[in-house]
Amino acid sequence: MPLSDFPRLPLAHLPTPLEPLPRLSAELGGPRLYVKRDDCTGLAFGGNKTRKLEFLMAAAQRDGADTVITAGGLQSNHVRQTAAAAARLGFACELVLSRNVEWSDAAYGESGNLQLDRLLDARLHLHPGGTDRAAEMDHLAERLRAEGRHPYIIPIGGSNATGSLGYAAAALELVAQCEELDLRLGALVHACSSGGTFAGLEAGLAKLDHPARLLAVDVNADPAAMQEDYLPLVRETAALLGLETIRPDGSCELVNGHAGEGYGLPTAAMKEAVQMVARLEGLLLDPVYSGKAMAGLIAMVRAGRFGKDDSVVFLHSGGTPALFAYPSVFASS
Ligand SMILES: *Cc1c(COP(=O)(O)O)cnc(C)c1O
Repeated sequence: MPLSDFPRLPLAHLPTPLEPLPRLSAELGGPRLYVKRDDCTGLAFGGNKTRKLEFLMAAAQRDGADTVITAGGLQSNHVRQTAAAAARLGFACELVLSRNVEWSDAAYGESGNLQLDRLLDARLHLHPGGTDRAAEMDHLAERLRAEGRHPYIIPIGGSNATGSLGYAAAALELVAQCEELDLRLGALVHACSSGGTFAGLEAGLAKLDHPARLLAVDVNADPAAMQEDYLPLVRETAALLGLETIRPDGSCELVNGHAGEGYGLPTAAMKEAVQMVARLEGLLLDPVYSGKAMAGLIAMVRAGRFGKDDSVVFLHSGGTPALFAYPSVFASS
C-alpha cells in the first residue's frame, strides 16, 4: 500500500531542514557532512518520535480511543512527545515511567523531559528500574477499561511497524531534498535504540531501491538487537509498504562500540562530540542519543570509513531537553 494511503495526523513541521555542516567537515578533513534537522519537528521541543506519532495517533483515533498509554525512562523523549501529541489532539495521556538509568545528578529525576511531561498534563505512573513496562501498560489499560475509558497502547519508542512508517516517509523526504540540492546521498547516520527510526529509514530506502548506506549507531550497548529486533521490524514495515524483499545484506549496519557502559550513561567521546558540534556549528545535540551517534560518526570519519568527497547525512533525532538532566557532565570543558 502506498504511504499516502495510511491514516496520518499532521503533528510535525515538515519537511525538516537539511543543512550543511561546513566547519565540522573542515575540522575533520571531510567527508561533506550534512544534518537532517529532525530535532526541529516542532512539537514541544521536537524530535524523532513526532514523525512516528503522526501515524500512531491516527491509529488511536481510528480505534476510537480517548486515552493513550505509553512507557519509557524518566528522561524519555518519546514519552514527552506523546504527551504533547495527546494534549494537542485532545486525548488523555497515561505514562508508565521507570528509573532505567542510574544517574546521580538530582536534575535527572526533576528536570528535562520529566518536567515537560508534567507541564503537558500527562498522568505519571512511576516505577523502579527493572519494571516490565509492557506488562505494566497492559495492567493500566485493563484498569482504565474497567473505568469505562478507551485506552490505546503505544509501544516503547513508538517502534512498531505503524510508527516506523513515519521514518519511511522521512527517507522519501530526505532523498527528495538531496535530489533538489544535487547531492548524492552516500551514507545516513543516526542513533538507534528501540529501532523504529532505523526500520522506517531502511524500509523507505528499500522502497526507493536507493544505494545509500544506513549506519545506525547503537546507543543501548546491545549488539544482538539487529538480528533479534531491528531486522524483523524492517521486514514488517517493508511488508506494510507492499515490499516483498528488503535491500541486500551490507546496505545497513548496526555500528557498535559507542554506547559506553550502557543506555543513558555518558561517555568521554559523547561529551567531545556534543562540545565540538556546539563550538563549530552552534548546533545542540543530546547526551543519550545524538551525542553518541555523532561520536560514532566522528570515529568512523577518523578511521577513514568515508571518501573526502562523499556526502554523509547525520540525522539529528532530537533529545536536547535531556541536556538539562545531566548538568554535571557539561559543567566543565
Ligand atoms: C528515541 C530516540 C532515538 C532512537 O530512535 P529509535 O526509533 O527508538 O531507535 C534517537 N534519538 C532520540 C533523541 C530519541 O529520543
